[in-house]
Amino acid sequence: MDEAPRRIDPTTDRVSAALVLGCSPEQIGPCARCQGLTCRYGRNAQPVCPQCRAVGVRTGTGPG
Ligand SMILES: [Zn+2]
Repeated sequence: MDEAPRRIDPTTDRVSAALVLGCSPEQIGPCARCQGLTCRYGRNAQPVCPQCRAVGVRTGTGPG
């Protein structure tokens, strides 16, 4: 029931967000949709956060 990723509030510090997201602090940036923190830069960059991606999949809007 609670398996969807959580939004990371933009007030969260980068180091904590990086630990949650499994990336480096310098890769952290704001989500294009909700402004929550996501692994936005670097090799595996995700312009939208895991939560928004999960919502997109569930509602059928698809990624991107
Ligand atoms: Zn988001």
